[in-house]
Amino acid sequence: MGELRERFWELPLGQLNRAEWEALCDGCGRCCLHKIEDADTGEIEDTNVACKLLDTKTAQCTDYRNRKAFVPDCLRLTLRIVGEVNWLPETCAYRRRADDRPLPEWHYLLTGDREDVKRAGVSVAGRVVSENDAGPLEHHVVDWDE
Ligand code: SF4
Repeated sequence: MGELRERFWELPLGQLNRAEWEALCDGCGRCCLHKIEDADTGEIEDTNVACKLLDTKTAQCTDYRNRKAFVPDCLRLTLRIVGEVNWLPETCAYRRRADDRPLPEWHYLLTGDREDVKRAGVSVAGRVVSENDAGPLEHHVVDWDE
């Protein structure tokens, strides 16, 4: 995995080792929510419906290591595709660093507190429903940036 180097989050994404890459995630949970794509326009709407593996109270994956076995289409963000995933939230560290922008000021790598993503109102913890309980996605369209 590799060591976490001092202020590694300021390095270009391509220079990060695996541990540093993983550590960039703030755990907001936004990428674990279903989206609806308009077949004609390609426009993407957000929902508050979570993947069945997401703990809706903490916004953490309940089986991160084995998630692909249960959810084969779970997105694995890599350097190669990070610039193409257009639905990552504005706050996402991968998106920001791919654009050579700094981490948001509340990011735990800067503050030392993983709970700050909740205080900043960015985490979806406690604000989502599992796909096991949700029913039709169309009833759950939300605008997380509001
Ligand atoms: S949107 Fe970005 S920061 Fe949030 S959970 Fe997904 S990868 Fe991590």
